[in-house]
Amino acid sequence: QWIMGIETSCDETAVAIIKNGREISANIVASQIESHKRFGGVVPEIASRHHVEQITIVLEEALYKAGITYSDLSAIAVTEGPGLVGALLIGVNAAKAVAFAHGIPLVGVHHIAGHIYANRLVEEMEFPLLSLVVSGGHTELVYMKEHGHFQVIGETRDDAAGEAYDKVARTLNLPYPGGPHIDRLAHEGNPTIQLPRAWLEEGSYDFSFSGLKSAVINTVHNAEQRGETIVPEDLAASFQESVIDVLVTKTERAVEEYQVKQLLLAGGVAANKGLRASLEKRFGDKAEIKLIIPPLTLCTDNAAMIGAAGSVLFEKGQFAGLDLNANPGLDITIHNDK
Ligand code: ATP
Ligand code: MG
Ligand code: FE
Repeated sequence: QWIMGIETSCDETAVAIIKNGREISANIVASQIESHKRFGGVVPEIASRHHVEQITIVLEEALYKAGITYSDLSAIAVTEGPGLVGALLIGVNAAKAVAFAHGIPLVGVHHIAGHIYANRLVEEMEFPLLSLVVSGGHTELVYMKEHGHFQVIGETRDDAAGEAYDKVARTLNLPYPGGPHIDRLAHEGNPTIQLPRAWLEEGSYDFSFSGLKSAVINTVHNAEQRGETIVPEDLAASFQESVIDVLVTKTERAVEEYQVKQLLLAGGVAANKGLRASLEKRFGDKAEIKLIIPPLTLCTDNAAMIGAAGSVLFEKGQFAGLDLNANPGLDITIHNDK
């Protein structure tokens, strides 16, 4: 079984070929970061134009790399949302064109379901499981009782973790995307600056990072006004400690309450060295739960994860019609059996 995955929800034009659900035969990612850098963030119109220019090339490259042709494909899986509508449309239309021209079944995939299924390329899933999703637009704890079934038990009420990283990086004049830069600085500093942690109501699995982000910005501005200098490494370390403390503590509580067999880390912020180390420390050697953390290339946006999720939906017979449309506000529960 060969499944093609296509991902164009943001600023990566990506196509992958997944063999038998779990094996990566090709995983091509054309990043646009250089084009967006000078604007300090992703410019939707520029993203769409790049996807149009790149998609055919990346499609051909993936097939070439996997050593197969369109006629070998069992299905084409594509990110239908959420994301930038103009960017999503390029992938969705490319997928529909190929599906129609070659008579191949089409599968629509939720981008975050994809991030979670990146873990299945590392290790087979065992249910029930919990996934901590931390990305540029999402911070969620997702409970899964079986393949393709997603229950969001907690989510951010304001900024996503990645968004907070990028905004804090901007305050420190670091280039976009700022997450990896803050991560690097954090390891060179000490968490000496007092910053808030948003625990919210007792028992809540929701998150909030806007207060922390504002506290960092205020710390920088106040120091500037008093003519004092702050050590960026220490501020980065303090910020990172606060983010990780809340993420890991709430995850630990959810793992206990839901009695899951596996804990999966997912999304771009899963590339964070401090977060990975902290989770390893708390769950790495526990016999009752298996911690899975994907390699860095499978954490940030890619199409292998879309192919992996698509393979499962394909086997469940959840196909899309040629009227499949991009949906920037898509809900992850669309994959749950009704
Ligand atoms: P979403 O998946 O929610 O739609 P997205 O696709 O834009 O959003 P991803 O590509 O999954 O987001 O992740 C990108 C985010 O990950 C950026 O905010 C980036 O700063 C962050 N990130 C990447 N590497 C690291 C790191 N080492 N530490 C912290 N954050 C990181
Ligand atoms: Mg991206
Ligand atoms: Fe993403």
